[in-house]
Amino acid sequence: MIIILRQNAPTGELEAMLNVESAQYDIFRGSDRTLVSVFGDTSGIDSGRIMRLDGVVSVSNASEPYKLCSRKNHSDDTAVKIGDIKIGAGGFAVIAGPCSVESRKQILSAANAVKANGADILRGGAFKPRTSPYGFQGLGAEALEYLGEAKKQTGLPLISEAMGVRELELFEDVDIIQIGARSMQNYELLTEVGKLNKPVLLKRGTACTIKELLLSAEYIAKSGNGNIILCERGIRGFDDCTRAVLDISAIPVLHEKTHLPVVVDPSHAAGNAKYVQSLALAAVAAGADGLMLEVHENPKAALSDAMQAITPEHLGEICKKVNAIRPYIK
Ligand code: PEP
Ligand code: MN
Repeated sequence: MIIILRQNAPTGELEAMLNVESAQYDIFRGSDRTLVSVFGDTSGIDSGRIMRLDGVVSVSNASEPYKLCSRKNHSDDTAVKIGDIKIGAGGFAVIAGPCSVESRKQILSAANAVKANGADILRGGAFKPRTSPYGFQGLGAEALEYLGEAKKQTGLPLISEAMGVRELELFEDVDIIQIGARSMQNYELLTEVGKLNKPVLLKRGTACTIKELLLSAEYIAKSGNGNIILCERGIRGFDDCTRAVLDISAIPVLHEKTHLPVVVDPSHAAGNAKYVQSLALAAVAAGADGLMLEVHENPKAALSDAMQAITPEHLGEICKKVNAIRPYIK
C-alpha cells in the first residue's frame, strides 16, 4: 500500500493507525510530498479511514485484495478436477444441457444426446432465477432427482444452479454447484458453498467488474473451498442485437490476475442460437478452459431460453471445431 501525503503533513495519526494493525511501513519525506510505503499483508487496513486523515492525498493498493485467488500468491494454474475431467492448467471441458430440467423424459434424452455430441458434463437448471416471476421457475427438488438418474445412465457429472442456502442440502448428487450471475454477490451463499467439499462455478454478474468477480471468488476461497471455476457469461451493454456483450478480454485478463480456471458461457451472452458457435470459438481462441452451452433437442418447445438453445447436432459441430483449434492455442 502506498500512501501519499501533502508536504509536511503530520504522520502521527497515520502511524498510530498502522501500528494498531501491526503494519510494517517506511516513511519518505520528499521535497513536495511525503510517501508512506506499507508492506506485508494490508488486507485488514481500511483505505477509506486513511483517506479521512488530515493531509492524505491518495491511497493505492500495491497488492490485490483477493489474496487467495490472486496469481501473485499462486503462480501455477489451478486445475479443478471432477473425476477424470480437469478444468484449467491445460484441462478443458464442455458443459452442455438444457437451460432448465423440464421433465424426466426430457433430461434423460438430452443427457444422452449431449454425451453423444461431445459434452463432458451435463447442465440442467432445477431452481431457475427468472427475470419475470411468471416465467417457468424450474422443477426444484424433482429436477435434481431426474438429474441424478441422468448421471447414473450416462456417467456424466452434473452441474446445477443453487439460488439459496437452504436448498444446498438437495445438491448431494450434483458435482459442481453453479452460482448464477444474479447471485454473484449473494455473500451468504458464497460463504456457504465455500464450506462444501465440491467445485463451484461462479458466473460473473452482468454489471460486475472483474475485480468484483474475483472478490466474490475470494469469499468462497476464504471459507475453505479453493475449487472455483470462474465463468464469463456476458455483461450488459447498450446494444440489443445480442442479449449481453461477451467480454472476451475478461479471459486473458482473468488468466493474468488469477490462477483459477475460466470457462465461457456463450449462450447467455449471445441470447441467440445463431451466434453461439462464433462466440464459443472466439472464447477458445482467447484461452478459455471450457465452455458451457445450452442445448435443447427441440428448441422451439424449450420452457426457458428457447432463443439461445442450440441442437445436439449443433453442439457436435461446435465440439469438432473446438477440438480442431485447441492444439493451436497457447
Ligand atoms: C443459466 O446458466 O441458466 C443462467 C441462469 O445463467 P446466468 O446466471 O448467467 O444468467
Ligand atoms: Mn438459461
